[in-house]
Amino acid sequence: MVKTSERISEILREAGAWQTGHFLLSSGLHSKEYLQCQKVLQYPRHGLTLARELVRRILQAELKPAAVVGPALGAVHWELLVAMALDDALPERPVRAIFAERADGGNEFQIRRGIEIARGEPVLVVEDVTTTGGSARKVVDLVRQLGGEPMAVGAIVDRSGGAVDFGIPFFSLVTLQLESYEPAACPWCRQGQPLVKPGSSKK
Ligand SMILES: [Zn+2]
Repeated sequence: MVKTSERISEILREAGAWQTGHFLLSSGLHSKEYLQCQKVLQYPRHGLTLARELVRRILQAELKPAAVVGPALGAVHWELLVAMALDDALPERPVRAIFAERADGGNEFQIRRGIEIARGEPVLVVEDVTTTGGSARKVVDLVRQLGGEPMAVGAIVDRSGGAVDFGIPFFSLVTLQLESYEPAACPWCRQGQPLVKPGSSKK
């Protein structure tokens, strides 16, 4: 297992997913480091390696999700790759890959485009990086509201250092505790370092 985690850290570093600077996280906190998992997920070969490892752990826990749901846009590739890996491992029924999206510029997630969750459908909720778990928690609540049964949450990186609790099993491939600060207490703000919002086109 240690060996697998080392391989996963290696993949993250090789793909340049691990970045250093002054970043605004989606949680509102500022951080010196940032994990841009899309840098890895742009290579489906690496993404599938990560997805297969997550699926191995899900199956080991005797969970058999019928659908994988992730918050768009960040988890779209990840959700598809995990669904593909699950589909390979569970050939008895087709596994669905579904993304939840923020509707009308709001903060709440919806599953749109005529896609439905069946009553009691076992669902794996995924996101790429868990910091506070806010987005994944919203998707867990949404799946439950729609009648599905969220069984677990699966992330590539747990940045909470293991502090996040979804009330259902949580699997992550890498657990990290990175330094982050409220804006008012941020040492890099005090030094006047420009703040970068990851994912924006700004360099
Ligand atoms: Zn700052």
